[in-house]
Amino acid sequence: MENSAPIIPSTPSLELHTLEDSSDVTASTLPIRNLYMESYGCQMNLADSEVVVSILRPHGFAVTTSYEQADLIFINTCAIRDKAEQTVRKRLSQFNQIKRHKPDLIIGVLGCMAERLKQQLLEEEKLVDIVAGPDAYRDLPRLVATVDGGHRAINTFLSREETYADISPMRLNSNGVTAFISIMRGCDNMCSFCVVPFTRGRERSRDPYSIVREAREVFEQGYREVTLLGQNVDSYKWSPTKPSTTKVANGHSAFPVLNQVDSQVVEIQQARVDVQEIINFAQLLAQVAQIHPDLRVRFSTSHPKDITNEVLHTMKAHDNICKYIHLPVQSGNSRILQLMNRTYDREWYLQKVRDIRNIVGPSCGISSDMIAGFCTETEEDHQDTLSLMDEVQYDFSYMFYYSERPGTLAARKYADDVPLVVKKTRLQEIIDKQRQHSLASNLKDIGQTYQVLIEGPSKKSNDYWQGRTNTNKVVVFKNQGCAKGKYVNVHIKTCTSATLLGDICD
Ligand code: SF4
Repeated sequence: MENSAPIIPSTPSLELHTLEDSSDVTASTLPIRNLYMESYGCQMNLADSEVVVSILRPHGFAVTTSYEQADLIFINTCAIRDKAEQTVRKRLSQFNQIKRHKPDLIIGVLGCMAERLKQQLLEEEKLVDIVAGPDAYRDLPRLVATVDGGHRAINTFLSREETYADISPMRLNSNGVTAFISIMRGCDNMCSFCVVPFTRGRERSRDPYSIVREAREVFEQGYREVTLLGQNVDSYKWSPTKPSTTKVANGHSAFPVLNQVDSQVVEIQQARVDVQEIINFAQLLAQVAQIHPDLRVRFSTSHPKDITNEVLHTMKAHDNICKYIHLPVQSGNSRILQLMNRTYDREWYLQKVRDIRNIVGPSCGISSDMIAGFCTETEEDHQDTLSLMDEVQYDFSYMFYYSERPGTLAARKYADDVPLVVKKTRLQEIIDKQRQHSLASNLKDIGQTYQVLIEGPSKKSNDYWQGRTNTNKVVVFKNQGCAKGKYVNVHIKTCTSATLLGDICD
């Protein structure tokens, strides 16, 4: 599960990333129009927004950070919980106030909520002009042109092949140090509570050469950390004999076959000759890690049933692969896990945690997602979640109470029968437990020295820098003149449950 805070571009970016323009009309022949993007939900959504901007740029759109200045507003949405959708509806009504005074303003809803509600969204939100699902972003220039022609436009086609592999995302909200790279799309898991398989479609993996190329490009631009993103990265699988193709809604293959637009196509084709087998996630991870020892590599999210010992050994073998795994458990009770269709039980999960600590090391950071009050959950089942937390001692968790999503397996099969007040009480107990564990974990770090990658000023003061350890802990320390994107050693002096505080000791 993901949090749903809005991710808004902080600075106007003039940085141009290459995207071969597939139309006859180029940016130089068009008046520049301002595009305002607002993203909700997971990091995949932020990565998608970067793809959207790259697609629209050659069609005469430049990014603005002010929605009042915008000619086109896109909200990239999350549908994982009802609350996330309500937030988007409120935001739409704010934007629609502007539209009353600016009738040419185009407002579009992208992403999971668009995919879930489809035409219904156009009917319910009268002032929305465009509805586009996660696999329809290449079609956005046509959808915008349709609106320019006086019609509303929708494309919620879900592809089995689209990975946007050939598109270099234009980084939004970037600190210039950490970048997110999408390595796959969709999910085949069908967890009973989850709407993602319906909104993001079938699982497909992106060409590894385009991933390695993108990681190398961001390293050369000065970034020092990449996070490889997917709903279930450990099931990444790519075959050289089945390259992806891309299609638009009307079924025409309107865009170049993967990598034909790339100047490195010869190099990539040559590399393909050397590939004998399917590339799995462990192999991809190793290839990205080998780009440069100064490039940190992270990944998210891991499904406990799919993370392999090969991945764990690869993490161990490369110092620059961060020793941190987001391994959502969702519940500590085996009966509830079965109802959730998670395909593992409590014991199996705990064995996976032991494998991580044995192979990667006892200090490997582990975080989780927790759902309180899933259908039929008893007090005893809930106590199993708390006791599992005690056994694992997570460093961090995303914690929610169960929110039924229409169309999911759970909504169709099980009654949402835990009263809201009980869900909230259980959630609070989970949050309190996690806070204790996070604090205990951070207290153990006092007196230790860790290498920290500086990400920028701390949230509270420009006199302090903020960065992360390789186990993903946030460290705040006095700004002693060193630069963003550099590695420093920090001696930890004190902590809160969320942050380590220390001094540079180089
Ligand atoms: Fe949803 Fe389960 Fe897929 Fe995660 S693994 S996106 S929870 S269906």
